[in-house]
Amino acid sequence: MVFSKHNIFSKITDSENYFIVNPLSGQADILPPEKAQEILEKKYTDIDEYVEKGYIVDEKEEEKVYKRAYLDFLDNRDDSEIQIFFVPWYTCNFKCTYCYQEGYSEKDESISPDVIDAFFEYVNREFAGKPKYVTVFGGEPLLPGVNSKASIEYLVNKANENNLDLAFVTNGYALEEYVPILKKGRIREVQVTIDGTKEVHDSRRPLKGGKDTFEAIVRGVDKALEEGIMINLRSVVDKDNMENLVGLADYAIEKGWASHPDFKTQLGRNYELHFCQSDQNRLYDRVGLYKDLYKLILENPQFLEYHKPAYSISKFIFENGELPDPLFDSCPACKTEWAFDFTGRIYSCTATVGKSGESLGTYYPSVTRKDEVIDEWESRDVTTIDKCRDCSLQLACGGGCASVAKNNHKGEIHSPDCRPVRDLMEMGISLYFEKGVLNND
Ligand code: SF4
Ligand code: SF4
Repeated sequence: MVFSKHNIFSKITDSENYFIVNPLSGQADILPPEKAQEILEKKYTDIDEYVEKGYIVDEKEEEKVYKRAYLDFLDNRDDSEIQIFFVPWYTCNFKCTYCYQEGYSEKDESISPDVIDAFFEYVNREFAGKPKYVTVFGGEPLLPGVNSKASIEYLVNKANENNLDLAFVTNGYALEEYVPILKKGRIREVQVTIDGTKEVHDSRRPLKGGKDTFEAIVRGVDKALEEGIMINLRSVVDKDNMENLVGLADYAIEKGWASHPDFKTQLGRNYELHFCQSDQNRLYDRVGLYKDLYKLILENPQFLEYHKPAYSISKFIFENGELPDPLFDSCPACKTEWAFDFTGRIYSCTATVGKSGESLGTYYPSVTRKDEVIDEWESRDVTTIDKCRDCSLQLACGGGCASVAKNNHKGEIHSPDCRPVRDLMEMGISLYFEKGVLNND
């Protein structure tokens, strides 16, 4: 019998206690220092309990459990809903300080109905019988001009004809004007980005001409919520706006957004590569962001009313009282996610869409597929990446993002994008289970 290779064992941040989590057996415990010492010394007084919980295993038996769990994972993924991104244009009306799309001008874009028709035909044929929905993405899909509005209205009508739900990812500037059009469709959610309170947001996300955008976005969010449209409010975070997130959270709580049933939040790490050298130190790595967030939450626990960060699987365990299913793959690209753009090209996901050399085929004017490359994307998971196979974090990490991995490993898709699962859980378990900043009732 051996200590399971799937055990994640570490000391909890700002605590004397340790945690042990096994994503394969689905067990987790907080251990006092004397119990942790037993593990460190491999002398167990509770060996029966540890065997029962799958912390101590017969390796061959565990391998069988692993294989069964993997087959279940593949079955579940086969039945999962597919998220299909559609980019009607790459034009944007904003000039965010951290965005690379500077070359694009502010235009009233449109897209040919033929391309939209071809997109829906392809989707219906290729993903026939599968649950699916379409997320419209950009550039900025909700541009204020009449031509853009007509194109989006056409797209909404086509989605209705095809019984497909829609989601939108927008900067939110023209959302208020678009609500009547969106209301004609089956809208799952609208993701809107606000980077902080008015002053901070406006300094980071102005219009191309320099005009402020905060108030227009707030009107759009209010209007959408009034009309029963789900809002997913996202902030792009770096060291320049981290502290100001508390102000944004207070604002959202005060306005009643945070407690609204159709309101949720998300934080995105600003990690773009187009910052000049001197600005690079304003960006966070993954652990750094969550470290600062941890401090911010301890000082401002009301922030959790606005947003509860995942800290790997810590929040899931806290909210559900059990572990998530083992994560053999964290990258949905070419499995349950695809992206299409107005040029007729097909891509793996939002990370690759529109990038030169990343197209996997076309749906317009004719259908083509690069099957070999698609197979590479489709077959990537922790069982096909050498480094992941022996990694104790594999079933909580899932191998990370294929696009990041590919960029960091000379184009090799079956390579790892390591997630700092252990560091995140040290902080997350502290925050959710030890610090008493939140009740789970
Ligand atoms: S490649 Fe990265 S961005 Fe694209 S679906 Fe996979 S995890 Fe997401
Ligand atoms: S990507 Fe890295 S951390 Fe994640 S499972 Fe693979 S080796 Fe482990």
